[in-house]
Amino acid sequence: MDKEKNNSLEKIIPVIPLRGVSVYPHTIMHFDVGREKSINALNTSLLKDEKILLVPQIEAIEENPKFEDLYDYGVVSQIKQTLKLPGGNTRVLVEGESRCKVLELANRDNYIVARVEIIEEEEIKNPTEEMEVLRRLLLKDVNEYVRNNPLITQEMVLPLMEINDPILLTDTISSYLDLKTEDYYTLLKEVDIVKRLKTLHEIFLKEIEYLRIEEEINKKVNVQINKSQREYFLKEQLTAIREELGEEEDESLVDNYIKKIKKLKLDKDSQKHLLKEANRLKTMSMGSPEINVIQSYLDEVLSLPWKKTSKESYDIKKAREVLDEDHYGLNDVKERILEYIAVRKLTEGLKGPILCFVGPPGVGKTSIVKSIANATNREFVSMRLGGVRDEAEIRGHRKTYIGAMPGKIIKLLEKADTKNPVFLLDEIDKLSSDFRGDPASALLEVLDPAQNDSFIDNYIEIPFDLSKVMFITTANSLNTIPPALLDRMEVIRIAGYTEFEKFNIAKKYLVPKQVEEHGLKEEQFSISDASIRKIILNYTRESGVRNLERLISKAVRRAVVEIVENEKDTIKIDGRNLEKYIGHEKIIDDDIPQQDMVGVVNGLAWTSVGGEILTIEANVMKGSGKLKLTGMLGDVMKESAQAAVSYIRSNQEALGIEGEFYKDKDIHLHFPEGAVPKDGPSAGISITTALVSALSGKKVDHELAMTGEITLRGRVLPIGGVKEKVLAANRYSMKKVLLPLANKKDLDEIPENVKKNIEIKFVETIDEVLELALIK
Ligand code: ADP
Repeated sequence: MDKEKNNSLEKIIPVIPLRGVSVYPHTIMHFDVGREKSINALNTSLLKDEKILLVPQIEAIEENPKFEDLYDYGVVSQIKQTLKLPGGNTRVLVEGESRCKVLELANRDNYIVARVEIIEEEEIKNPTEEMEVLRRLLLKDVNEYVRNNPLITQEMVLPLMEINDPILLTDTISSYLDLKTEDYYTLLKEVDIVKRLKTLHEIFLKEIEYLRIEEEINKKVNVQINKSQREYFLKEQLTAIREELGEEEDESLVDNYIKKIKKLKLDKDSQKHLLKEANRLKTMSMGSPEINVIQSYLDEVLSLPWKKTSKESYDIKKAREVLDEDHYGLNDVKERILEYIAVRKLTEGLKGPILCFVGPPGVGKTSIVKSIANATNREFVSMRLGGVRDEAEIRGHRKTYIGAMPGKIIKLLEKADTKNPVFLLDEIDKLSSDFRGDPASALLEVLDPAQNDSFIDNYIEIPFDLSKVMFITTANSLNTIPPALLDRMEVIRIAGYTEFEKFNIAKKYLVPKQVEEHGLKEEQFSISDASIRKIILNYTRESGVRNLERLISKAVRRAVVEIVENEKDTIKIDGRNLEKYIGHEKIIDDDIPQQDMVGVVNGLAWTSVGGEILTIEANVMKGSGKLKLTGMLGDVMKESAQAAVSYIRSNQEALGIEGEFYKDKDIHLHFPEGAVPKDGPSAGISITTALVSALSGKKVDHELAMTGEITLRGRVLPIGGVKEKVLAANRYSMKKVLLPLANKKDLDEIPENVKKNIEIKFVETIDEVLELALIK
């Protein structure tokens, strides 16, 4: 082996075993060398100005590779540059020159040498057709690969397109790929260039597929991973800093957890479970990602309010004061709340029903729940259920899942930092469910007094007692609340406000609140009564006061700007400058008829945003007896329309309608878009009236609104949402409202000042309706 040369292609060269890097002929690469034998080989080469042989290790983790741990092909390379790094490593820049077969390995002094046979490869100036096809195929692969790999840009691979020599091309392309050692070896030992091209193509196909799968997975876990990765790195850094400071962390960390767990004094099983997790920390090797999982878990569990409570107050007098201070009117609602609080006091420990406030947006549902928290001296937290589809949002993910977290219930209790807050479940009517499980059933468990003293979150794994939490829910309408949930709840309806109530709410509550929130003094901002009324009437037409509050807030904001900018002392808003502060009036009534017309009727509907006027239009034209319906339609509406036609046909004469309209006329009924009634059929009498008007040519009173369903015999049936509907009629300045006689009992609900404003007529048959609605 000491003979330097046997034939011209055989050489004896010092060896550096490669791990984790691939060097190809015709390419430049750098890597760090740290092992003693490798450094000796490197120094020998440098001293003798010789080349170096780079041979891949079969297993990268082998620290001290024996001969059989090295592959039998390598790359003879030229050392271009070396750089001593702090810590004893040397960085080497090499240029690969040629592949070679390792014939024999031997130890010399303190490094390895190899006898090799160089594989000479001449540039291929005229590739065969097959090579050319494969060359193009490879370039396509490259493009595809780049498209899927965010780490490589198109510019980086542009020079490849210029390379004609397939040998140079395969080597250069290979150096772009971060290949497994096995694949690297396959490419090194492949002497036949056509086969090498094919092999590389196959490797590409595999790599591209990997990239695609990787991207798919990335997309799915990205969000979660970002968070947990961040935490992971931060913790990792922390450990590094601790080590640097020479802090002994492991033992004391575990002891610390154990101490804290014992201090919680949880039930036996839970404690055992937590101690087991803490002890697992001891057995884990440093830097194992699982350590972080367990630490986050224990931190999370330890930060929950297991025993912490606020001292609840059941002082009814104080509660009444708080409720009055925060809300105008709503007297019956307040009484119900006080009753509820009183009962809670008496039945302490016994579990009462769950309150559910139902009503249109902006009527103060959320804010009254906050007041209840204040009044009973509990913390307040709220969770929006609108659009919650995934059960895990409520119940959490198992901690083995990447980026796992507890569900919102537990998260919010952590935020409340007490185990007895008022917990608002907002928009319980908008809960949805799909393949990710059924959040409603998870919620049922949360609300069920028989089970909720040991609620188990998937992440927390041990039971948490929710029985001290005061859950309160809100909804816009009851229809979409799952019945099992509705069963547990005591419904309190807030229907909406009259103009008079809105005025008082604005003057006494909203304006002072906005002034304070924007940091103004009371005397710095004023708005005239007339302006408030104008906003209520001409800018907003809503059941609640949400837009009203928004506009007042807008006015106050502008005022603040003016005060700051122009150094004014005070801003007074009145009829003359109102527009400057809140913009032009909205034209609101363009849908509502302004005069008596044929075929146009004001129906009343009860929608999720409160009561609304629903203008129904009927048109009759020559045709063949078709009934056409357009606009906002539910099946119920279609049935109502058909029932109306039948009724008219059988009572045609009495109604004063001539001819065979069901044969030679088409009827077109149009319902406006937008307001979709939630209470099912209640438009029967409005539809019938519109049809009779259109067929008989008699006009309909435009200052009258009506609601009620009819039977085929013309009897008027009762409907829901009376208060909401009458308030809506009042809002739109109707003079008269027709209601089914059977709804007379609901008259009590209607505020006195509204009853003064509007004439309410109760009707029993459609004849009475027509008598009152049609102009003679
Ligand atoms: P909801 O939850 O019903 O949609 P919010 O509770 O958000 O309505 O109420 C909207 C705003 O109107 C809040 O600022 C609230 O304080 C105010 N508000 C509603 N009703 C009243 C009332 N009766 N008295 C005083 N402020 C009210």
